[in-house]
Amino acid sequence: MRLLAHPLALYILVLGLGAIIGSFLSMLVYRLPIMLRRSWEEDCQALTARRETDRPRGVFNLALPPSHCPQCQTRLGWLENIPLIGFVALRGRCRHCRAPIPPRYFLIELVTTVAAALSLARFGAAPAAILAFTASACLIALTFIDWKEQLLPDVLTLPLLWLGLLVNIGGRFASLEAAVIGAASGYLSLWLIYHAFRLLTGKEGMGYGDFKLFAAAGAWVGWQLLPLLLLLASLAGAVVGLTLIALKRQGRSAPMPFGPYLAGAFWLALFYGHPLLATYLHLAHGR
Ligand SMILES: [Zn+2]
Repeated sequence: MRLLAHPLALYILVLGLGAIIGSFLSMLVYRLPIMLRRSWEEDCQALTARRETDRPRGVFNLALPPSHCPQCQTRLGWLENIPLIGFVALRGRCRHCRAPIPPRYFLIELVTTVAAALSLARFGAAPAAILAFTASACLIALTFIDWKEQLLPDVLTLPLLWLGLLVNIGGRFASLEAAVIGAASGYLSLWLIYHAFRLLTGKEGMGYGDFKLFAAAGAWVGWQLLPLLLLLASLAGAVVGLTLIALKRQGRSAPMPFGPYLAGAFWLALFYGHPLLATYLHLAHGR
């Protein structure tokens, strides 16, 4: 443990752990939506009392089958299982069938590694850093799942909400009072915006997952930061959306997930909320 007292050793350890957890998250982002879809299909079949079709459905969860190429099913070797390095060593292609590996895998591992280092830098070698990194990991998984599938699974948003309330019992990131009001008002405010928007335009601009994610944000950072958080998420979403339309990468009416922007603003508020709020108020008052 003497070695860990050295800041450099601590950072190396945290970067390594971040990369390993990032590798787990990239697997989660791929597998969780498939697991959920299978379970919904089974529920539908049970409801309509239809027999299970005879197509083979092997065990598929977060642990099994072992990591493999989704194209040719070849199992990954030890080198390819190393986060970040595996992708670079393979130059982004399967060793066996040369099918391209989505850059998402590398991106998730990289972002998670950076989040681990920033948690240590911002909160020090303290429980707050582990909690902030736990929230970061959850937000990274939600961002990529929503981006890929337009889905914010309850199995991630709801535990994030409960955890936010629990960690704030001692007032770690916000007072418990601000956290409870934040959770309730976060959900309610987006619910109201959603229904007002639907009444006015007949379109659905968000999903219920967004309300739960915003409620989780309120539970972690307290209600005071929610208006600024929503402003940042909307601005970022509008800038990216308009850029994609301008570049003709996306149609005007194509669905665009809001979760990634909410998650990004949530992360900023958790890590740098108070300096951000101070800057915002300073600018707003023109002083
Ligand atoms: Zn392959």
